Amino acid sequence: MIDVSGCVICEGEIRRLHQAIVAPFLARRIWGRTPFCVDLVRCKNCGFTFYNPRLDAAEEGRLYAGYRSEEYQQMRHASEPWYTSSFNADLASPSSYDARRRILAGILREYAGNREIRRILDYGGDRGDLVCGLIEGAATFVYDISGIPAVEGVTSTADPGGCKADLIINSNVLEHVAFPRRLLQDILKAAPVGGLVFLEVPWESPFGWSRIIRRVAQVGIMALTRPNLARSVVRPSSFYMMHEHVNYFTEQSLATLMRSCGCALIAAGSYVLDGRAGTARLAWCLGTAT
Ligand SMILES: [Zn+2]
Repeated sequence: MIDVSGCVICEGEIRRLHQAIVAPFLARRIWGRTPFCVDLVRCKNCGFTFYNPRLDAAEEGRLYAGYRSEEYQQMRHASEPWYTSSFNADLASPSSYDARRRILAGILREYAGNREIRRILDYGGDRGDLVCGLIEGAATFVYDISGIPAVEGVTSTADPGGCKADLIINSNVLEHVAFPRRLLQDILKAAPVGGLVFLEVPWESPFGWSRIIRRVAQVGIMALTRPNLARSVVRPSSFYMMHEHVNYFTEQSLATLMRSCGCALIAAGSYVLDGRAGTARLAWCLGTAT
């Protein structure tokens, strides 16, 4: 793990908010150990909130190797009884992308002006579901380290820069990574000057009631079904448990990230999405590579 002394987006001063326990699944999958505590910190400048210390590249690699594979699902289910194989399969269901695709197309119509979008790259987009059919007539590509086959109509690529995309989309990835600027810098290497870049993340708060109630319910289920495991997490720090999402963005911190990497910001906003697991708010921003 890497202990940081400043904000990983804007290098601003950070302050410690709370102790937070690492989820049993993460502790087991990454380190083969029982849960332990880290700090939840917030940047005084841009408001970015994240867990410290950060995962290093090898730790991220162990967490996401075989992401959502059968082996992954079974290991996660051993700690989290609600993470069944059907729940795992639903997360990748094509129907869950329809609403997101419609909203994204609307944002592009409103803010991308008269730019012609002929080539779209989904950077870190799993099978590329989000870009499939997003803009009629545009060629669509997906770059994902998992190496999972792309959906029909989308071309999987190992060379994101070679796609020469007019629009690069990165959706629901930045909340998982320890160093968001590094990922955005990699994305920008694949973007031509003037190319559009769209970033999208969950707009979550570690202190939101719905989140805290969910954590309490999960610990309760754990207590009934995995009592030994539950004993290791029954403490106040489990309210702010660190799981896959190691970052909490707001519209402001996402826009700060984009500017900090030299992008020209076109627009930023948020929207509410109704899904099977309830409603979720997402923050987005659209900019151009310079
Ligand atoms: Zn900051």
